[in-house]
Amino acid sequence: MTPYLLRTTFIKYAIYSVYKMRCPYCSSTESEVIETRDNEDLSATRRRRECTKCKKRFTTYERVENIVLIVIKKDGRRESFSREKLRAGLLTACEKTTVPLEKIDEIVDEIERELRGGESIEVESKKIGRMVAQKLKKLDKVAYIRFASVFRNFVDVEDFASEVQKLIK
Ligand SMILES: [Zn+2]
Repeated sequence: MTPYLLRTTFIKYAIYSVYKMRCPYCSSTESEVIETRDNEDLSATRRRRECTKCKKRFTTYERVENIVLIVIKKDGRRESFSREKLRAGLLTACEKTTVPLEKIDEIVDEIERELRGGESIEVESKKIGRMVAQKLKKLDKVAYIRFASVFRNFVDVEDFASEVQKLIK
């Protein structure tokens, strides 16, 4: 009858659900986990279980829900994290470059996952900017430069200048 804690990494800050996994055949709450697998997008953990009472097998999907990410802006104001805003910023930076749309979505996914896996539910916009800049730098120099020039305080100035130098050489 042990309550089930979701994703222990979040316990410190997050709202987590505590509930019992009930066997759908006999309603027993005692089961053994046979196999655990994360969904590809890491939104859910799939567990194959065997009921210790009736021995039948069933699958549960456990997901972390309602975790709000708060972005602290430069002026100290807070707002909830918006995938759409992040995506819009990336689209602007990658306009007229060879970066495909799916790559942009991938970056948005990666950043959201990294933020949700972090220690705090509050994150400075500066940090998000730096994460984006790092990923763009590896992907497309033009997109990186464009992003860096819009969000200038997100990137290391010297680093930015040397990248520009490389481009115009
Ligand atoms: Zn059962």
